Amino acid sequence: MAKERQSDSKSHRVGRATLETGVVTSAYRAAVEITCNQCGRTIAEGELFSRQTRRAPLHAHIQTTAVMTTEPICATCRPLRLETTSE
Ligand SMILES: [Zn+2]
Repeated sequence: MAKERQSDSKSHRVGRATLETGVVTSAYRAAVEITCNQCGRTIAEGELFSRQTRRAPLHAHIQTTAVMTTEPICATCRPLRLETTSE
C-alpha cells in the first residue's frame, strides 16, 4: 500500500468527506484518543473526525511564509459524510 504522507502517530487520513456545509475536506481516523479542539470532548480511537486548518500567528523573527496549524474537530461539532477512502 502506498505510504500515506498525511498520516501521523495520532491519526490516519482515510479519504475525503463532505461536511454539512457541502465543503469537501479530509477525513481522519483517530489512532489514539484525541481531544476535539472545539468542544473539548475526547475523540475515541477509531472515530472519524476532520481537521480545521488555521494559519498560526507569525513571529517577526521567523522567516516562514506559511505556518499552519491543524486542529482536530470531532464529528459531533462538524458532522461529516465519508465520500471516498484511500484505503
Ligand atoms: Zn467537538
